Amino acid sequence: ATPTSIMVGTGRAAQLGVLFRQGDALQSLQCVKTVALDKTGTLTKGKPELTDLVLMDDLTEDEVLLLIGAVEARSEHPIAQAILRRAEAAGPVPGEVSDFQSHTGFGVSATVLGRKVTLGADRLMIRDGIDLGDTGRIASEMAKAGKTPLYAALDGKLAAVIAVADPIKPGTPEAIAGLHDLGLDVAMITGDNRGTADAIAAQLGIDRVVAEVLPDGKVAAIDKLKEGGNRIAFVGDGINDAPALAQADVGLAIGTGTDVAIEAADVVLMSGDLRGVVNAIDVSQRSMANIR
Ligand code: ADP
Ligand code: MG
Repeated sequence: ATPTSIMVGTGRAAQLGVLFRQGDALQSLQCVKTVALDKTGTLTKGKPELTDLVLMDDLTEDEVLLLIGAVEARSEHPIAQAILRRAEAAGPVPGEVSDFQSHTGFGVSATVLGRKVTLGADRLMIRDGIDLGDTGRIASEMAKAGKTPLYAALDGKLAAVIAVADPIKPGTPEAIAGLHDLGLDVAMITGDNRGTADAIAAQLGIDRVVAEVLPDGKVAAIDKLKEGGNRIAFVGDGINDAPALAQADVGLAIGTGTDVAIEAADVVLMSGDLRGVVNAIDVSQRSMANIR
């Protein structure tokens, strides 16, 4: 590629809100065969809402909400905000919280008003030996609807199955279709539940799903997609996406995401709209074709 064609390409991309931090990303992007995307905050808004709460014990909905809200008040996870918002609507959230622990990729736990509260994915309950009884059907129904099922336990006993749903961003379906039109394979990488991830992928027509990935497992997921010399672009927004953004052949960060992700990326999408990914690849393919 000539310096002029790269300059013209990066200039055209900038007009479309796509910032190439280095000129060589414009060249590597045209060789990409698979675009892998983080789910939460990238394909979806990253602002989940609590949608279901199924009680398993003799506590009331408000009692459960206040206990779990007290724990989530200490967590930074988007799920925590969804639960805390609902808890605050139920009454004053207890401030008496001790032994708070964030189990990265699993959930949270703490002692609230003398009771041990455990909240998170099924794998957290399994790890702590909490009996899930026959809640499998409830959880899989939630997952089939694209919602994330969570479990809440009090003193080691299951108290509720909860669902949170994170809406898909408006530009996402068109972006996935656009990537397919460019002849690319689309993959999703997420820490979320397998059933939930599959449901959202099916809804969007995503070709491959890597689910239940622990935060430090995203790099390994990229390596797996790279097998056979396949060139990969990865799109993400979060702190835990930074290593994967660096590991991919081209890393694209959502400009509205965290600074750590932006620093690790080769390309920044100024708006949160994923149609920017299609524009980036389109500009790259066109400007490289022009100079041959
Ligand atoms: P992702 O952001 O891709 O969903 P994470 O690794 O952050 O991945 O979280 C994986 C799973 O762990 C979540 O889907 C959820 O089930 C559980 N989890 C993590 N943090 C919390 C929290 N603060 N409250 C409840 N569940 C949580
Ligand atoms: Mg994310």
